[in-house]
Amino acid sequence: MLARALPSILPPLAFEEALETTRVHSVSGLLDRETPLVVTRPMRSPHHTISDAGLTGGGHTPTPGEVSLAHNGVLFLDELPEFKKRVLDVLRQPLEDGFVHIARARTKVTYPSDTLLVCAMNPCPCGYATHPGRECRCSSVQVERYQGRVSGPLLDRIDLHVEVPAVSFDELSGRKKTTGEPSLAVRARVVAAVSRQSIRFKDLPVRFNGQMGSREVRQFCVISQESQALLETAVKRLGLSARAWMRCLKMARTIADLEGVEAIETPHVAEAIQYREIFSRVEERTPWGAQPAHIM
Ligand SMILES: [Zn+2]
Repeated sequence: MLARALPSILPPLAFEEALETTRVHSVSGLLDRETPLVVTRPMRSPHHTISDAGLTGGGHTPTPGEVSLAHNGVLFLDELPEFKKRVLDVLRQPLEDGFVHIARARTKVTYPSDTLLVCAMNPCPCGYATHPGRECRCSSVQVERYQGRVSGPLLDRIDLHVEVPAVSFDELSGRKKTTGEPSLAVRARVVAAVSRQSIRFKDLPVRFNGQMGSREVRQFCVISQESQALLETAVKRLGLSARAWMRCLKMARTIADLEGVEAIETPHVAEAIQYREIFSRVEERTPWGAQPAHIM
């Protein structure tokens, strides 16, 4: 539900982005007379039985896969461990590079694949490992096997790992009032953060913080000595990779942007680290180290 609500808080498509997305959808034959131009960010949620060609593109005449159809939008993978391991492995490169190369005997095609990846998974096969009122009946071997289907390198590329507690029946039925912020208010904050980024990157081939290379990170993600020490401790404690280190810095930049401040402060860095901590926290809580319910 949360993942499907995500497009409602994303910034509107810029004209250039709309053209790029339209080009990909046009090659796939997804456009018709009524919708000649894609004007909203696409949301693609392929089934877990999808093939690697279906996800990243392929075929005799190379056509774009779901990761390219989600370009400038959201790619949502529900029940992440149910996807074939090989399929998830081929996804890593397009996510990292922002484009996919497909080579055939006579042709070579490149499609864009700059998408926001959102995944959801249960903590164990039965889904109740972290449920406050239900008992999990999975064995430790079953849980390990289930979680092992998602590789570390893929998790490493996901910036925010968030535990989502079960929603009560009263909340679902609307009997209990929820205290959440309306999408419109969140979207206004996102749009303001994006506009800070377009000013920051006006002379660079970068649109969003997540697209920064190491040079831009050095220039725009300057942190204090205190924040540096905090990050170094976290890297050692959580065993984070160099890639995760860079991603934490970019995340801290985004948290500061959402707050509307230019300087990255220590609380921004601490919050970015916290989104990487969830696995180790849950390992301490459950006897077999189960991952939390739903990781996005
Ligand atoms: Zn279970």
